[in-house]
Amino acid sequence: MTSARLIQVRGVVQGVGFRPFVFRLAHANTLSGWVLNATEGVEIHLEGMDSAMDAFVHDLKTQPPPATAITAIDVQSIEPSGCRDFIIRESRAGGAPSVQISPDLPVCDACLAELFDATDRRHLYPYINCTNCGPRYSVILSLPYDRSNTTMQAWPLDQHCASQYHDPSHRRYHAQPVACPECGPRFSLRVGDTVVATGDESIYESVKLLNDGGILAVKGLGGFHLACDARNRKAVRILRERKYRKEKPFALMARDVATARELVDLSAEALALIESSARPIVLAPARMELEGVAPANDDLGVMLPYTPVQHILFALGCPEILVMTSANRSNEPIAYEDEDALERLDEIADAFLIGERRIARRVDDSIARAGPFGPMILRRARGYAPGAVAALPIRRPLLALGADLKNTITLVIRGQAFMSQHIGDLDHYQSRVAFEQTIHDLTSMYEVEWDELSIVYDQHPEYVSSIQAAGLLAFKKRAVQHHRAHLASVLAERAAWDKRVLGVIYDGTGYGDDAAIWGGEIFSGSVAEGFDRAAHLRYASLPGGDAAARYPVQAASGFLAQLHSLPDVAASPFNFSARYELAARLVESNIRAFRTTSMGRLFDTAAALLGFTREITFEGQAAMWLEHLARQASATEAYPFPLDGAELDFRPLLQAVVDDRLRGREVREIARAFQQGIAQGSCNAITALCESTGTDTVALSGGVFQNELLLWDIKSILDQEAIDVWTNRLVPPNDGGISLGQAALACFGEA
Ligand code: ZN
Ligand code: FE
Repeated sequence: MTSARLIQVRGVVQGVGFRPFVFRLAHANTLSGWVLNATEGVEIHLEGMDSAMDAFVHDLKTQPPPATAITAIDVQSIEPSGCRDFIIRESRAGGAPSVQISPDLPVCDACLAELFDATDRRHLYPYINCTNCGPRYSVILSLPYDRSNTTMQAWPLDQHCASQYHDPSHRRYHAQPVACPECGPRFSLRVGDTVVATGDESIYESVKLLNDGGILAVKGLGGFHLACDARNRKAVRILRERKYRKEKPFALMARDVATARELVDLSAEALALIESSARPIVLAPARMELEGVAPANDDLGVMLPYTPVQHILFALGCPEILVMTSANRSNEPIAYEDEDALERLDEIADAFLIGERRIARRVDDSIARAGPFGPMILRRARGYAPGAVAALPIRRPLLALGADLKNTITLVIRGQAFMSQHIGDLDHYQSRVAFEQTIHDLTSMYEVEWDELSIVYDQHPEYVSSIQAAGLLAFKKRAVQHHRAHLASVLAERAAWDKRVLGVIYDGTGYGDDAAIWGGEIFSGSVAEGFDRAAHLRYASLPGGDAAARYPVQAASGFLAQLHSLPDVAASPFNFSARYELAARLVESNIRAFRTTSMGRLFDTAAALLGFTREITFEGQAAMWLEHLARQASATEAYPFPLDGAELDFRPLLQAVVDDRLRGREVREIARAFQQGIAQGSCNAITALCESTGTDTVALSGGVFQNELLLWDIKSILDQEAIDVWTNRLVPPNDGGISLGQAALACFGEA
């Protein structure tokens, strides 16, 4: 007896070799029917024996292709319609798409084998790919995911590629970006306005340039990189000078895992991250010093090659450790369009290795780390975006605009929260353009009806994203407080809507309920009921507001003004610059002074007292410097950081720093005692507040928790208490995670 079933599969199922897999599975089970890419995912119509269909569904669930991520399989019995064989049907358009767009994938082993097989048609061809690997989000122009909707539309397939593309048994069956040297795009090497080499020759010449200490701009998946020999001091120095990047660490690309292991200590978790399909830059403890690569830092950021052209460069003998940094000048967004790259990088790169395939959108490298509480993503971009990060209890579409620093946006469609790639700091014009473009991209790909859409944004009235929100037409709009959004992001990852927790949010900045600059906040409550502020860092004055974040001595002035006995910090050993005096006067006369509870600024203050008295050259630098210092000392006695009522009092903590510094104690020991003080004081507060609010779970988030030593110290203390610690695992604890938390809070009341 023949019966029939209709199967709907949702999740990341398009562009990952899913239909050919279904085709083979149907044939193996002698089933007839069809499969097609629908806007809601993949639809399968099966006819045959019940037992065969059961076996089919079982294998569908247990053996899908590597890059798929199935979120739901719905099986319905239907009337057979008398299909004779099994076919792959054309995609069906219509209806709002909720299929997930696959993130970009690293080149797979099968393609690598062909790439380095001298007899293969695609030998050394930098655009090799198949349904298991290659570009996705970075080439997609619109849905459904078909070649005509990608930046490969300009290259018609030749006969060879077409035969593989149309062969359901081939791993290039419907591999949309498929190409070969005969029909596909090519690479060329440019110096100034001149093309000096094309095809294989362009890569040979690039290898020569890198070996000679040159700086090469290379087009990657989501943007250009600037590459040079990481062991060549002079090349690294020149790159820093030309890029106007004084101290911020450079990312490295290691030829293979063995080389990466020479560079850094890779724990099992870190190894899993570095080899994961996102191929992020992984921060891990350095095992060697490479001059100028990561000054005053214990970690190096290392990634493995993920595009064919990167593999070819290494295979043809370029230095086995490359600096591989985003192609931009200082803090600008990474260049991804050829013309723009040639113009902006003209004075930085000695040559440009450029492929013809256009990049549809800017997608930076992701950054991750294996931390004390599991993997931590610090920048969510290539390889992750625009994947789903949570399922939210809402049917209407919802758009969360994030924060102005490290901006990401989150679009919720039919309860699935898709987070965009890292967009960057919205005070840059190009990031603002990217912000608007990403909103347009995601809402149009998912065919969002704007009059149905709710919009949620940060409470800060002067954020670019908040101002932008005001200009958008939407069904409903609301603002969410910054640090509550941080907290909600941790809970949203776990779909813990009713769970009552204590939330400790240590951050650099964020607009508070009282219009002060918050950032040392402890909340109690749940996503569903909202979060009450249970405690906070004692208020200090912050002259100049957020601008003070660039000058640790300026941030210090307001905190130090509250100490009982403060020596002359302009004198030795402190040697604060004149900026301090100026700031202190503003504090005293209460002119242009804002109130703050920022934990980030408290770290800046400690850094200033220990010698970081200059202007920072990248965000978070002073706190990183302090952590680096503290790591050089062994555990010591923590400075006092008591909870007084609802206030974490920084005065005894800073007084201890000042006194010990005057006594001549080693600065690294003071740094350690300060960090331990923050950890111990926070844990005491957590224990007390968990008890008084009746919860046993604490969620930690906010940019300050990128401090790994702080997390280890907290872990070692809380491991002895019966308190569960939750941290972010899928989205960053810094402002890159804000949009998810905003979206989660917007699903519930007016909290
Ligand atoms: Zn492949
Ligand atoms: Fe924040």
